[in-house]
Amino acid sequence: MAHTSLVFRARAALGQLRSLPARLRHGLTHAQGTTAPPPLNVTILASHAEYLRHRERTQSRARARDAAERALLDARDSFRVDGFCYPCGAPSAFEVDYRYGSESEGVRIPNWRETLICECCGLNNRLRASVELFDRFCRAQRTDRIYITEQTTPMYRWLVDRYAQVTGSEYLGDRIPFGAVNAQGVRNESLTQLSFPDATFDRMISFDVLEHIPDVAKALRECHRCLKPGGHLLLSVPFVVSAEHTLVRARVSANGEVEHLLPPEYHGDPLSSDGCLCFYHFGWDLLEQLRASGFGEARVLLYWSRELGYLGGEQLQIFATK
Ligand SMILES: [Zn+2]
Repeated sequence: MAHTSLVFRARAALGQLRSLPARLRHGLTHAQGTTAPPPLNVTILASHAEYLRHRERTQSRARARDAAERALLDARDSFRVDGFCYPCGAPSAFEVDYRYGSESEGVRIPNWRETLICECCGLNNRLRASVELFDRFCRAQRTDRIYITEQTTPMYRWLVDRYAQVTGSEYLGDRIPFGAVNAQGVRNESLTQLSFPDATFDRMISFDVLEHIPDVAKALRECHRCLKPGGHLLLSVPFVVSAEHTLVRARVSANGEVEHLLPPEYHGDPLSSDGCLCFYHFGWDLLEQLRASGFGEARVLLYWSRELGYLGGEQLQIFATK
């Protein structure tokens, strides 16, 4: 299937983005903007083969984007990039630092995906884009039932402020039963054995969780089971866009022990300072896994925007429909 390119024309962000009390709770003062967001061009691809053709066609654009990003770099340990924050619906400044960054030809490169934190809403590059992609692709109604695999985060609060029926959870292990809520009001769920009845949710969202679950297929089947027919799933995961196949970094042996195939990589965990082991860097076969789990449609959404602060080469998230 040929790739589809959608140019999203600017439209009234103000009408879509109702009150943002989360910002006020964070002590933020500047008023909601009245400016329409810059258009975002999203390329929708269904396979690694489509990606290779896309990459071939867009080589010069990729070089120009790389140059634009390098022109923003600053020798200081942190700096700001001006842009338009989609969740805030207003121009803002995005804070950049070099934590978890890399080096290329002697030049420090930030981990663009996890930085570019809006000084107003506190969401980074990836999460600001998640909000925009959720709006544009999931098209949720205010009363839709929405599940997100996080609850102690700004992203959860952003959804609760905007939608009437949002369920969030964290993985609390065996401290309390799955489906139960702890003294702090945090619900315990495991993506491989969700406590919800079949076809509970209109929309499901999971950001950077799947790579921490050894049995990905089981987790995807659970997402499919809990979605209503026609429901949408929006995912972000570490994804190597050039890789046809998923890189397995660690696995769990038959006796339940973790076996490291590559040096262990731990990601930040909002509920633990230990971090969370990353089992996978996904490749395009994740789309096949989604289809095998029952999703009728699974696509990668590729995007980049200097104005919106979606930097780091072409960024991507995954969108599937039951
Ligand atoms: Zn913002």
